[in-house]
Amino acid sequence: MIKVLDEHERTMAFAEVALGQIKSLRQTAIPRNYEIWYVYATGYNSPLNKIINETLARNGKLTESDLEQIYETYLSQIKINDRIDKVGARVIGEIDDVMTLISDALGMSASYDNSLAGAAQKLSVAHNSDEVKVIVETLVQSTREMRETNKALEDRLTLSKSQISNLQQSLEAIRAESLTDPLTGLGNRKYFDRSIEAAVQTALANGEPLSLLMFDIDHFKSFNDSYGHLTGDQVLRLVGMSLKQTIKGQDITARYGGEEFAVVLPNTALRQALTVADHIRRAVMAKELKKKSTGEILGRVTISVGVSMLKPGDDTDSLIERADACLYAAKRNGRNRVICEVDPEYAAENHSEVA
Ligand code: GH3
Ligand code: MG
Ligand code: MG
Repeated sequence: MIKVLDEHERTMAFAEVALGQIKSLRQTAIPRNYEIWYVYATGYNSPLNKIINETLARNGKLTESDLEQIYETYLSQIKINDRIDKVGARVIGEIDDVMTLISDALGMSASYDNSLAGAAQKLSVAHNSDEVKVIVETLVQSTREMRETNKALEDRLTLSKSQISNLQQSLEAIRAESLTDPLTGLGNRKYFDRSIEAAVQTALANGEPLSLLMFDIDHFKSFNDSYGHLTGDQVLRLVGMSLKQTIKGQDITARYGGEEFAVVLPNTALRQALTVADHIRRAVMAKELKKKSTGEILGRVTISVGVSMLKPGDDTDSLIERADACLYAAKRNGRNRVICEVDPEYAAENHSEVA
């Protein structure tokens, strides 16, 4: 006889598969990784299983950034979409209720109109004061009902107004979350893609300068390997904080990828952008890292920065490509430095057109 597993046994089986995968691939047993493997074990999210299988077949392992990407794409985004669906359904429900109420009130108002017209008609042919009295009483009664209906409608609309404003806030919070990198609290890649596009269009349309900084933590892999991913994550948070402290106003900051960050500086020419870049570089380097749990001093991390400035004929991609090429020139020329597209280190490696 086939034994039907109960809920406990079934979920334990998924849990064991999940932990087994984490063990055999030597991943950190943090909740995010457990969730990824648990969902994998259930087989309910086939795109997730497909990408995991493909990545494993190709690379034989899943790196930290693979896991983060998979979680962002196949799990956290789905959660956000579910929440948007739920709030959306509540907005629709609220609107339905109000529409029903309004159509009831319109019906009431039409019948009130009828009774007014009927009363006028009856009054014109009334013979004595008793008949007039009856007509007036009917009128008073229907006026009272109309007033009650109006009052109910008013109360319900006041309630709806506050509910809709709560729902608006929920939607706004979900929207903000869907554009935020949970680790650093900076904008995420989606936020960056959208914002840089808008900023570049504005700058091109108004003939304003715009610069882009892209930076990457130096030797972060060996830092992670020595101290572990959780400490690595703390460093990413610290870099995010240094960035927030240095950058203000209209500037756009985002975590571009694993340990790479980007800053869009509208209304900023290259020289000022270089100053900003150097502030960020110094702010990061100034922080001595200490392991919270043990107080152990871990030293410092540095960053390499590439800076490009928008020029005629540019689009978002070409601007990003140049900042990225400058970043790699900064890496190859010793790290912990800022390189921009007029620096000889960049020119030496990128045989771009000379004016
Ligand atoms: P380089 O100076 O050339 O940039 O060297 P690197 O070691 O920083 O560069 P590489 O691209 O080889 O390694 C990047 C490493 O960043 C890989 C991974 O260990 C780490 N990393 C990427 N994303 C995350 C993350 O979200 N958390 C943690 N802790 N580490 C991450
Ligand atoms: Mg790096
Ligand atoms: Mg990197």
